[in-house]
Amino acid sequence: RHSTWASDGSLEKEPLLERCAAVRYSDLVESSRPIEVPPPVLELCGSLARHGFQAWVVGGCVRDSLRGVPVADWDLTTDATPEEMRKVFRRTIPTGIEHGTLTVVHRGEHYEVTTLRGEGTYTDGRRPDHVRFVSAIEEDLARRDFTVNAIAFDPTTQAFVDPWGGRDDLQRRVLRAVRDPRERFAEDGLRVLRAARFVATLEFALDPATEAAIPATLDTLRRVSAERVHDEWAKALVKAERPSLAFDVMRRTGMLAVHAPVVAALDEPTFSRAMRRVDAAPKDLCGRLASLVFDVNEGPDRWLRDLRFSNDERERTAHLWRACRTDGCEAWDDRQVRRFLRGATRARALQVLALDLADRTARGVSLESNTRLAERCLQQLAQGVPLASSDLAIGGEDVMRALGRGPGRHVGLVLAALLERTLDEPSLNERVALLAQVPEVANSLEVS
Ligand code: ATP
Ligand code: MG
Repeated sequence: RHSTWASDGSLEKEPLLERCAAVRYSDLVESSRPIEVPPPVLELCGSLARHGFQAWVVGGCVRDSLRGVPVADWDLTTDATPEEMRKVFRRTIPTGIEHGTLTVVHRGEHYEVTTLRGEGTYTDGRRPDHVRFVSAIEEDLARRDFTVNAIAFDPTTQAFVDPWGGRDDLQRRVLRAVRDPRERFAEDGLRVLRAARFVATLEFALDPATEAAIPATLDTLRRVSAERVHDEWAKALVKAERPSLAFDVMRRTGMLAVHAPVVAALDEPTFSRAMRRVDAAPKDLCGRLASLVFDVNEGPDRWLRDLRFSNDERERTAHLWRACRTDGCEAWDDRQVRRFLRGATRARALQVLALDLADRTARGVSLESNTRLAERCLQQLAQGVPLASSDLAIGGEDVMRALGRGPGRHVGLVLAALLERTLDEPSLNERVALLAQVPEVANSLEVS
């Protein structure tokens, strides 16, 4: 049993194992159970039916309601064309009209309604060259990526359309490509990434034939835009209890070397430790990214830039990675604890400690040192010790006045030197005491 840190920095009392057990339980599937479609969605389907059209809920919402987990978005598909839909619904937004998708605004909520589509031809490995509308729901389902994503349900008749055995695969917890995986992966490189992501978020096994098709299609994966790679990585890292399930697939199939060569190059024991660390870290994007590259010697910045992580995400990840160095903390005196906190910063101290906890969990060492360090940090924080120049009892104006000089580089240097002194001795953080030291500090810095 061990406790973990929640992403808000608080300590979670509920042990990880029990949390995983709870997820498994809620995942139990009763394949014959109809889907409870919320009334507004039922109303949309009813409106289409009254105009002589068929409508189904389809994709992620069907998969997730069969798994018994909350549905984020209810997506609909219909045999009405976008033109016809516009006659049925009062308020529509042409979000993806060229793909046959309209956003219907109903009772203040947005719903994506898409005309039945067939498989297009792919020449760029990214998107079909053209969209072809079809009249059969089966044909629409045949172009979808995985069997568990290719189930449709007609709320009006309560009938499932499940030509690829998606419900069986849900029950068996298997992720399987619809039709020939080699062909499907070769036409759209995003699908192999989605495979790895779904293995982790659903905690499903990857069907062996589906997995075997991946290595031969990596060239198509290389053509996927960095933005879409970023989105899949972010989902795998944040939505999965155990992102390692995705990274294990990526490593086995060669996908990891395409997008994260620094991680793929780790030797086996280091990689396994990184996997345990990622799983033990709170479900926070930057904490989990930092867990992944914890043992990589160069900073993660360039790699994260290649994967289009934002400036803010890169800065936070690199900061956690840098600040989480706690070797020998058992022997630290209070001055060292304060310097650790200065590096972590007041705002992120708990995130750094949570990363340290994940690392110790990954290494299988006692968590006692983390608990003790966290207590000592909280003690210092509660005393309001200064951790940054801005915490000092005097500011830049005071330094300039004391030296009789205008602004310049020396002001920051003097404040930094005063901070060093107060980190050793926090009681020095008092206006009069600090002002008295300004000339001497400036002198010693040869900046006066
Ligand atoms: P989530 O929204 O939880 O990430 P989802 O299954 O709803 O999962 P979306 O990206 O919202 O995924 O796509 C909706 C549906 O569209 C999928 O369930 C699948 O049927 C189909 N789909 C999405 N992307 C692809 C793709 N690259 N190739 C084939 N079918 C796809
Ligand atoms: Mg979705």
